[in-house]
Amino acid sequence: MDLPAAPMTLLTAQTAPARPGFARRAIATLTSVALLLTSWPVLGPVSADTKKGPPLLRDTETEQLLRDYSRPILRAAGLEKQNIQVVIINDPSFNAFVADGRRIFVNYGALLKSETPNQLIGVLAHETGHLAGGHLSKMRQQIANAQTQMIVAMLLGVGAAVAGARAGAGAGGAAAVAAPQSMIMRSLLSYQRQQEESADKAGVKFLNATGQSTKGMYETFKRFQNESLFSAYGADPYMQSHPMPAERVEALDGLAKSSPYWNKKDDPALQHRHDMMRAKVSGFMERAETVYRRYPMSDNSLPARYARAIATYLHGDPRSAITQIDGLIKVEPANPYFYELKGQALLEGGRPTEAIAPFRKAVQLSHQAPLIEMLLGQALVASDNKAYANEAISILKAALAREPEAPIGYTQIAMAYGRKGDLADADLAAANAAYLRGDHKTARDLASRAKTRFPIGSPGWVRADDIVNTKSIKN
Ligand SMILES: [Zn+2]
Repeated sequence: MDLPAAPMTLLTAQTAPARPGFARRAIATLTSVALLLTSWPVLGPVSADTKKGPPLLRDTETEQLLRDYSRPILRAAGLEKQNIQVVIINDPSFNAFVADGRRIFVNYGALLKSETPNQLIGVLAHETGHLAGGHLSKMRQQIANAQTQMIVAMLLGVGAAVAGARAGAGAGGAAAVAAPQSMIMRSLLSYQRQQEESADKAGVKFLNATGQSTKGMYETFKRFQNESLFSAYGADPYMQSHPMPAERVEALDGLAKSSPYWNKKDDPALQHRHDMMRAKVSGFMERAETVYRRYPMSDNSLPARYARAIATYLHGDPRSAITQIDGLIKVEPANPYFYELKGQALLEGGRPTEAIAPFRKAVQLSHQAPLIEMLLGQALVASDNKAYANEAISILKAALAREPEAPIGYTQIAMAYGRKGDLADADLAAANAAYLRGDHKTARDLASRAKTRFPIGSPGWVRADDIVNTKSIKN
């Protein structure tokens, strides 16, 4: 899908995992082990292509809400100092998983399909349970053990096959390999189930500790259990990353319903923010027909108007979009994200100079949210007025200091430097942008060129040199 580089900016995270989900990763690794065993004697890690991760979605409003959802849970889990981020993946199916101990990945499909804050908080509580339990490293250890066991089994199998062939009974070898392999596989899967149950327990504990209902968590898992009864494929990958055998659901059932907060409802203000977030995700990510079906003209609620305004700006008449957004601003004049959307619609509509004022207001109301500052920087650069170049550079620098992994910030600052004729810094910033997009070749080329423009040994030269060298080690 070709999205405008919008408030929901698509960025390629070269750090994201190639195979989402520790559960799916476990299975993938098992496949590698099987490969390893069949292609003997090729030993060593079977390397997956981990360079191109899935694209992530960035949006200040959504990320702020997810931070507000996860912060109390992480605190209850004793993880508040780990700086754990909730990261949104550009995928319409329902899924959530942990993959590296410092991030919780959530598909935007899970945001859309969670009707209440509590449902999504339940998912986050369960994933936090995996983090708090150190499940990733434990699973890796189990897999390493299993690999050793399989290799031993393989060697024994080869021995048996050779012995069998000599004895004239050729089938012995294959059987000797197959039996332990499936046993090992079963033991890994049962280990994974134990982890799921322990994450459930931990999740319930965190919800209780923060005085929140366990109902949302229960509703989500129950829904997937029902879906698995009726769908042969399990439409959402959540089923695969979180296997839900009857025993687990039963255990969760008892656990969740025993919560003293079972009947506690979400705060209406939080539900409103949740509804606005879902409307925004729908407006940006779904087809216009789908948006209008979810939010028909007869629905005059603020979320419905928000979703339709976004769909109009992306697919319809820009003038009408601005009118609709102005209507939203009248209802909530202190909502930074309405000004952000207005700036966006103007910027994308080829009116960058007019976009500057609403972006400034959005920056101010959001207390200098870096992603919004990057949009302001983009408008300043795009308005093709040399006088704005210095301001753009200082705003973008400040934003990048807090959001160093957003390529759009580097792309824009590169253009601002270009406007000023500072080609060395322009090349260096463009190299950084390419690096963050995962395009290491371009990053290396641009950094090499930047090196020729900076005085040797200057700070810029050193940073460019770092990019050139980091790449040659990694590739
Ligand atoms: Zn899980």
